Amino acid sequence: MKTETTIQGLTASLAPARTAKKLIGFVPTMGNLHEGHLTLVRAAKKICDVVVVSIFVNPIQFGAGEDFDSYPRTLEQDSRLLADVGCDIIFAPSVEQMYGKHPRLTNIRVSQITNDLCGESRPGHFDGVAVVVTKLFNIVQPDYAFFGQKDYQQLAVIRQLVQDLNIPLEVIGVPIVRAADGLALSSRNGYLSEEERIAAPTIYQLLKQAEVALGEGQALSQVLANISIELTQVGFVVDYVEARQPNLQPIEQFDRDVVLFVAAKLGSTRLIDNLQINFKTSVHDKNR
Ligand code: AMP
Repeated sequence: MKTETTIQGLTASLAPARTAKKLIGFVPTMGNLHEGHLTLVRAAKKICDVVVVSIFVNPIQFGAGEDFDSYPRTLEQDSRLLADVGCDIIFAPSVEQMYGKHPRLTNIRVSQITNDLCGESRPGHFDGVAVVVTKLFNIVQPDYAFFGQKDYQQLAVIRQLVQDLNIPLEVIGVPIVRAADGLALSSRNGYLSEEERIAAPTIYQLLKQAEVALGEGQALSQVLANISIELTQVGFVVDYVEARQPNLQPIEQFDRDVVLFVAAKLGSTRLIDNLQINFKTSVHDKNR
């Protein structure tokens, strides 16, 4: 496994694979890797000949007062984990390498689907994601790029970006990896105190309870309100609890597949999660 910190170095490292027309897979990350990230790498290894993992904490996707400075940077540990799962090349550029050379005058805004959910509470976040992902796609030029459904809205934004701008690669979405108690793995879980870590899986428990309630015919609005109330009771400050169709379009009632979204803070740690609920399966279960 090689580690490259410059665009030039990465391009040179990838040249033989490109000449040999090998399939290149790409997994963008911000590092501090966990089983969620490693699952993306394993998915990439399954269908690609060469797998590149980028580790870059992207300053322009963090808002003022967010955790850019304190975000965990653990390159040595990440390298060991990536070697174990067969990553071929780590791309770990500096901020200077990614943004330093020329002042950037180009912005990328995927409209509509970035207006609400995390887009509303983190203004500019998805613009920063769209810019860095486009830059990384142009640098790595992969055949496949892998993203987690943990960041469901981000995955939708990237699919839209790739489609709208004819970026020549295929985006693959990978299901959420959870801890044994249901908490979606996240680098930010490391910020949680012992007490907060015990409360954190409540998000997933409530999402699963909501699935049952919807199957039993409870109104979607009521189910969402209940999640919010119960999260508040165990000490979360709720940012949003929302439902959308899988394509992020609005949904009024549970008469088709739905995705439930939660963003909530425990202390200063913001956690997000989501659960996709299949209409036919739930209604079928209910009628058994
Ligand atoms: P991050 O390092 O947080 O930017 O995440 C890098 C990639 O890993 C993104 O595509 C995330 O959606 C994905 N990811 C993070 N956590 C998980 C998880 N628990 N399960 C699946 N994918 C994840």
